[in-house]
Amino acid sequence: MKKRIASPSVTKEILDKNGIRLKKSLGQNFLVDRNIIDQIISGARLSKDEHVIEIGPGIGSLTQRLAEEAEKVWAIELDDKLISILPETLNDYDNIKYIHADALEYDFEELLTDLNDKKVKVVANLPYYVTTPIIMRLLEERLDLDRVVVMVQKEVAERLVATPEDGKSYGSPSLTVQYYSEPNIETIVPRTVFMPRPKVDSAVISMDIRKEPPVEVEDEDLFFSVIKAAFQLRRKTIRNSLSKATNVNLDRDLVDEALEEVGIESRRRGEKLDIKKFATLSNTLFKLLN
Ligand code: SAM
Repeated sequence: MKKRIASPSVTKEILDKNGIRLKKSLGQNFLVDRNIIDQIISGARLSKDEHVIEIGPGIGSLTQRLAEEAEKVWAIELDDKLISILPETLNDYDNIKYIHADALEYDFEELLTDLNDKKVKVVANLPYYVTTPIIMRLLEERLDLDRVVVMVQKEVAERLVATPEDGKSYGSPSLTVQYYSEPNIETIVPRTVFMPRPKVDSAVISMDIRKEPPVEVEDEDLFFSVIKAAFQLRRKTIRNSLSKATNVNLDRDLVDEALEEVGIESRRRGEKLDIKKFATLSNTLFKLLN
């Protein structure tokens, strides 16, 4: 077994040797606990013929284990200094490809087209400042991924798996993630396993990418616009939210007609509607508009 990077002493040694000062602005909180790395690895359910995209390898603590479990790792790191030391730190592994790029801009589609018949998973301890935009990109671009397993802030994970019963955690991100995937919180992670320690706890969330959405939707743009409108004014009734929405132009009579047709009481709040109700409501609006 190769020397594990995920420990406080080895991490410190690598940082000192390379004169690296961690950047808070890039969400550089490194994992220094082997057990948590093992839990991420087991949540990823990797096999030797699969490829992994890792976003933000840092100094390689998770990358190292991914390289041992998968056929190949595509490690995308934004930081100039970290990307330059990774090949040396991980020189025992010849199945890692280092990519110096911003995960918000990187062309995942092109990479996945090149990997055409491979099963590809994303596994990462995401930089906190861009967690949600990165997850949304991976899902909304309908990339040909099998599973996404990422460490995020605990509150973010709770939001992504939330249902109407979960109160204010439930919102537009919950519905988007659940439309494209089946999310599950794998484990809650205390802040003590990071160097430096963040101010909040984290969670590992897995998302199995759906081949088919869980509900039938006539017009996805309208479906997501209705959801956004409902949560933009979440304390208002669904009738008011939809007819006052700025992102979609729906007049009050049309909203009333649609709500009546699908049997949603006009005084209900949008935050109480589940994904099925949003689908029937947007399908009815679509029919009335066309
Ligand atoms: N994987 C390492 C670990 O678990 O210890 C580091 C995780 S650290 C939370 C996040 C990493 O993402 C950092 O190495 C940071 O430099 C990198 N990063 C930040 N923003 C990024 C971006 N937009 N694209 C790619 N990598 C980014």
